[in-house]
Amino acid sequence: MKCPNCNTKNHREDMVCLNCGLPLNKVPFTKEQKGWHIMSAIVPVIGLGIIFFAMQTFSSMSSGFIGNTGFSQFSSLWWLFMGIAVIFIGMSFYKNILDLLGGEAQVHTARMIRKYRSGSRRSARTYYVEFEQIGKVNVRYGLYQPLTEGGIYKVTYSPNTKRGWSIEQQ
Ligand SMILES: [Zn+2]
Repeated sequence: MKCPNCNTKNHREDMVCLNCGLPLNKVPFTKEQKGWHIMSAIVPVIGLGIIFFAMQTFSSMSSGFIGNTGFSQFSSLWWLFMGIAVIFIGMSFYKNILDLLGGEAQVHTARMIRKYRSGSRRSARTYYVEFEQIGKVNVRYGLYQPLTEGGIYKVTYSPNTKRGWSIEQQ
């Protein structure tokens, strides 16, 4: 395997580079990758904050118009929704922070099991690729599109969020 640091060719089974001694199965994040993790951690939190305050303002303005029972039913559904959103966004925030603190992407060669996408609107779709040993990795469309089931790929990904950065056929 080629060293990501000094480009020396090493044996496939080597865990550290023969030339520079750096681990071969890890690559430091690029600026873009760090930026991606910072945005993915913060943007949903800001979005949730905006929705929360908008809703608080709306409910204090409109509580006089809607009947009291109707409003309390709506209100408990609202809090349930907010609770679930807080859990999901909190988990995503935590994983992004873990990746940022680790500072490195993981590199692993594995067989691809399957790929699938979620979301119906094209702009909101998430693309997933599942590999043996690694599990489910989420990628952009450009990486997702050419992959074939059963192929062996060298996958570079963030270990906690499982964001895939590069997938090379072996
Ligand atoms: Zn090296």
